[in-house]
Amino acid sequence: MQLKKLLEKKNLSKNDIIRLLSVKNKQEIEMIRKKAYFVMKQHCGEKVYYRGLLEFSNLCANNCYYCGIRKGNKEIMRYSLEKEEITNIAAWCADNGYGSIVLQSGERRDSKFVDFVEDVTKKIKEKTKEKTKEKTKEKTKEKTKSDRLPNGLGVTLSVGEQDYAAYRRFFEAGAHRYLLRIETTNPELFKKTHPKNQTLKNRKKCLRILKKIGYQIGSGVMIGLPGQTIEDLADDIMFFKKYDIDMIGMGPYITHRQTPMKRYGQETKNRKEDVFNLSLMMIAVTRIALKDVNIATTTALQALYPDGREKGLQYGANVIMPLVTPKRVRKEYMLYDGKPCIDEDTDECKLCLLGRIKTIGRSVGFDEWGDPKHFLNRTKK
Ligand code: SAH
Repeated sequence: MQLKKLLEKKNLSKNDIIRLLSVKNKQEIEMIRKKAYFVMKQHCGEKVYYRGLLEFSNLCANNCYYCGIRKGNKEIMRYSLEKEEITNIAAWCADNGYGSIVLQSGERRDSKFVDFVEDVTKKIKEKTKEKTKEKTKEKTKEKTKSDRLPNGLGVTLSVGEQDYAAYRRFFEAGAHRYLLRIETTNPELFKKTHPKNQTLKNRKKCLRILKKIGYQIGSGVMIGLPGQTIEDLADDIMFFKKYDIDMIGMGPYITHRQTPMKRYGQETKNRKEDVFNLSLMMIAVTRIALKDVNIATTTALQALYPDGREKGLQYGANVIMPLVTPKRVRKEYMLYDGKPCIDEDTDECKLCLLGRIKTIGRSVGFDEWGDPKHFLNRTKK
């Protein structure tokens, strides 16, 4: 089938997806990019939504073989921010028009941690709702920016595999989105990249629980893992579809020197270019296949090329996550080598990203939650 015809198909099969992901010809890549952008515009609009990314702790009980903050890495300083600092950062996000915050950390399942996440979520909701009320009272006529977040700041959690009770408590505390990457849906590859006690089966179970509780669910994969094939990536997209995922975050796998996977070597120029291009194609093809989901353009793209995140937006992504982690701890949350933005502070990130988004002619959905249309559509049914 001609590419043009293939791009008009309503439902893409796994083979169609493989075919699209395999395209190498520049003209054809551009056809796919344009189609992805068109689909995004049609189903989600052109606005880019902000989620302030707060990496609030790098303590981790897991030992993923690719990750720089794994428990086994003894060479980093471990930190956990205090509740007060976290809620102040959340208030900063609300004041600066970031409609949502993502609280991310290493993975812990102890009761102290679960209590902490529940409580800090509650406090963020209280604080950002209060602000709205106060401001509305003060200026009854003039609309302030906080009036547009009547339900407070949107809170997304990304704190790994937990049990039903913990997920439920976080939800009741006010978190309405959850990110849990599946990392790869190939069982062999999952096994090769995780210790025995971490299983693909449990990740899937977690995603099902999160959905049942009522969260907007986010997932995603790493692209370019050693031994990963195009067919694996096509399976990943089919998985997003099958699990009705609302939000996708994918990025290139980048080696970290202090992990067991360092043996696969550092980035070579060719590998870098290939994995970058493949990541952009994954964004575009996921957009074409899934249509109304939110797709993030991830920081890891910018680690490979300075304009990586803008490129992601041009290939069909509509969410960006400006870092709001305090500058003093940014270097301790190195998931992979060369993670960008660690020498900037939060204000610098704000200005820098705004500039980047403007250069490609997109606007930011300030003061909006920017919920994924897919969630709205699937819960309407
Ligand atoms: N502990 C949480 C979140 C922290 S890690 C969780 O597991 O959900 C967030 C994401 O960073 C991971 O899901 C993984 O996809 C990505 N990541 C970790 N190491 C990476 C690496 N070396 N290269 C690229 N992405 C990486």
